[in-house]
Amino acid sequence: MNKEARQEGRININSRYVSGISWRLFGSLIAFVVLILAVIWIFQIVLLNRFYENSKLEELRKSDKLITELINDTTVLQEQIDILSVDTDTCIRVFRIDGDKLLEIASSDVNKNCTLHNADRDLTKFYINAVRHGGSFSHTQRDKYGEGSALSTVMVTVRSDKDGHTYAIMQDSQLMPLDATVNTLQRQFGWIMCILIMGALIMALALSRMICLPMQRMSQSAKRLAKGDYNAHFEGGGYREAEELADALNYAASELQKNDNLQKELVANISHDLRTPLTMIKGYGEVMRDIPDENTPENVQVIIDETERLTELVNDMLDLSKIRAGTRKPEIEVFELTETVAAVLLRYEKFTEQQAYVIDFVREESVCVKADRTMILQVVYNLVNNALNYTGEDKTVIITQTVNEGRVRISVTDTGVGIAEEDLPYIWDRYYKVDKVHKRAVVGTGLGLSIVKGILESHGARYGVDSKVGEGSTFWFELGVIYDVDFDEKA
Ligand code: ADP
Repeated sequence: MNKEARQEGRININSRYVSGISWRLFGSLIAFVVLILAVIWIFQIVLLNRFYENSKLEELRKSDKLITELINDTTVLQEQIDILSVDTDTCIRVFRIDGDKLLEIASSDVNKNCTLHNADRDLTKFYINAVRHGGSFSHTQRDKYGEGSALSTVMVTVRSDKDGHTYAIMQDSQLMPLDATVNTLQRQFGWIMCILIMGALIMALALSRMICLPMQRMSQSAKRLAKGDYNAHFEGGGYREAEELADALNYAASELQKNDNLQKELVANISHDLRTPLTMIKGYGEVMRDIPDENTPENVQVIIDETERLTELVNDMLDLSKIRAGTRKPEIEVFELTETVAAVLLRYEKFTEQQAYVIDFVREESVCVKADRTMILQVVYNLVNNALNYTGEDKTVIITQTVNEGRVRISVTDTGVGIAEEDLPYIWDRYYKVDKVHKRAVVGTGLGLSIVKGILESHGARYGVDSKVGEGSTFWFELGVIYDVDFDEKA
């Protein structure tokens, strides 16, 4: 099985054990429906009686309060009790208590089964005595087994007025039997359950269709992309999350394509750069072997030069891979940056004399930094090399050292062709060349800026390039200045 097939196989194996989104949605919706039904069941069926009884009790408390306020005004009291009795379907009796005697001052009887009016005098006294000792008294009478629907709620309170008279207010409110209502609700409950489950199923299917369709389309495109088809396009499904995912995937696809092109270019460039010196070496070697007169020091020098170029290329490739892999760590020391830059420029003395190039180093003071000296030397060397390669007709390169807020900036400026804005982000990539046929004045392996980037990033240094097409470029980097140089540390 090839790698691709294995990967596809893994996708299938993983997805086989994962349930589809429609089942998950259905499961969640059913859980929600069950929760709602349970709440309805508890409130509408299990607690219905208790809620009803409590509301009746509340009603009796309000009536009791009203009667207490009117207790001294017997005429109004009787009128009010008549109205209350009808409104709340409650029998009411109000007594004045005089020692052991009970004197009825108002009464209303709306229900012939009421316990108050049917109670004998002893039972009434029992109610009143209970209240005297306990403060107030309410009691829900149930059927003879003490279960099921309540029959009535009795409330008795004893009140005193400001003249010191004591009164007993007795109320008996009839309760409707709720068994029939509960039965109806239970039957309805079954229907509600069926309808909600059907609704949950339909909603789950509709929602999953809405969510899955764009996903399925995107997964098809992703498979095409995995096979190297960079024209694969991702489309969202008209809702934000899917659109965002599609945008991200389209962006990833375009970046992959760019990367792929860069890789291809990289291989082409490496092969070209390796092949050129090898062809020269082979060619000169063969000529020297076949024609004895050609065995001259100049021809041998060409072979040596090309071998050096190959060595440099291989060294640069090794450097870059070490920096990238993190195996080449900076060896931090304190050293004079200004002196290091000047030392790099000394190397070019012979070249500038021969080729009439001008390299200027503008600085005001000598500064020290804490970094890997060899690496920083390599950075300056690469930037100056590039500037010499790409500078303009005046063959001038200016290196400037400026110090600002404790940071030193080294800028390498040339007056050459400059770099177009769209190329700027890529010049730090391996083997990226803006001008594919540019001839180098000095040397260049095509890896210079990626080595510069790797070194400066491993130092946490800021770096960048300002460039204008036709006017030239300025490559720069910054390091922290060390002011109090301790000689021990410097050593
Ligand atoms: P090379 O050996 O090709 O110069 P580099 O990594 O040093 O490799 O540079 C990458 C690319 O960046 C170059 O091929 C060139 O297109 C562009 N470049 C670098 N320095 C300059 C410069 N000073 N002026 C214009 N273009 C530059």
